[in-house]
Amino acid sequence: MNIILMGPPGAGKGTQAERLVEKFGIPHISTGDMFRKALKEGTELGLKAKSYMDQGKLVPDEVTVGIVKERLMETDCQKGFLLDGFPRTIQQADALEKILAEINKDLDAVINIKVIRDVLIERLTGRRVCKACGATYHILFNPSRDNNKCDKCGGELYQRDDDTLATVGNRLDVYEAQTAPLIEYYKQKGLLKEVDGAQSMDEVFQDICVALGRE
Ligand code: ADP
Ligand code: AMP
Repeated sequence: MNIILMGPPGAGKGTQAERLVEKFGIPHISTGDMFRKALKEGTELGLKAKSYMDQGKLVPDEVTVGIVKERLMETDCQKGFLLDGFPRTIQQADALEKILAEINKDLDAVINIKVIRDVLIERLTGRRVCKACGATYHILFNPSRDNNKCDKCGGELYQRDDDTLATVGNRLDVYEAQTAPLIEYYKQKGLLKEVDGAQSMDEVFQDICVALGRE
């Protein structure tokens, strides 16, 4: 199972990735999570990524492609992988194709989760994330039982710096300009599977499993 999970910010990629990883036992590779981890650890990569992330812009391709290449070469990716938030530009997609050819792998499917802009804004501005384990909540659609604590590990919940109204609009514009063209790119390759992301989390998961032929 070598899968890409695509869709605009807030479509539910991280939410569905948690479930897919559990069902299929493959590693979840989120470039956004990798950048946030690097930032938390204060590494050079984190500092480089920070200014772009704060403005809702994309981190330069050469930086992003480099970390994905390294990650895909780790041994746990032998059994498959789930890419989330990568590729986000045509250049990244071309680079991914080259990397996969080098390590003798093919993509099985690209799942595109579709959600309209107004709903995305509501989802992003209401998102809360666990500081400790990264689990995702929503203040209205998926609240934790205890206000500011994670149901899974008790960690503190926080709002991402880039989930403010000011940055969200920019991120959605960047998505339209730079990432949306990948839908056609993967359609042409016969890999694209579209899923309606406006349904409940369970229904979206069900549709993804059907699209993968693995109910
Ligand atoms: P992405 O990884 O694509 O940016 P997330 O999985 O973090 O998106 O989801 C964004 C927000 O929307 C989160 O707060 C999440 O709890 C919420 N969410 C995800 N899927 C759904 C859904 N099907 N219905 C309602 N809210 C959702
Ligand atoms: P995400 O967690 O996927 O919403 O990503 C958060 C931020 O990390 C984005 O707004 C970008 O600044 C950066 N980022 C994540 N993935 C990529 C990527 N594939 N290419 C460039 N920047 C990325």
